Amino acid sequence: MAKKGELSKTARASMGQRDDKDFLTSRVCAKCGEAINLKELLPVKVLGQGMAYYHKSHYTVA
Ligand SMILES: [Zn+2]
Repeated sequence: MAKKGELSKTARASMGQRDDKDFLTSRVCAKCGEAINLKELLPVKVLGQGMAYYHKSHYTVA
């Protein structure tokens, strides 16, 4: 008989939920050129170019 607690723990780990707020994405800020943490990631759709990514604090609306 499987233990319920261990099952949910494994499922959560496989979903990559751990430390999701501090997860460093492979996205690079279009303004400063540095990698962006998930909590700071701001995807912006750019016409003709697709998506661009910024740190939330680095993106300014013109
Ligand atoms: Zn930036």
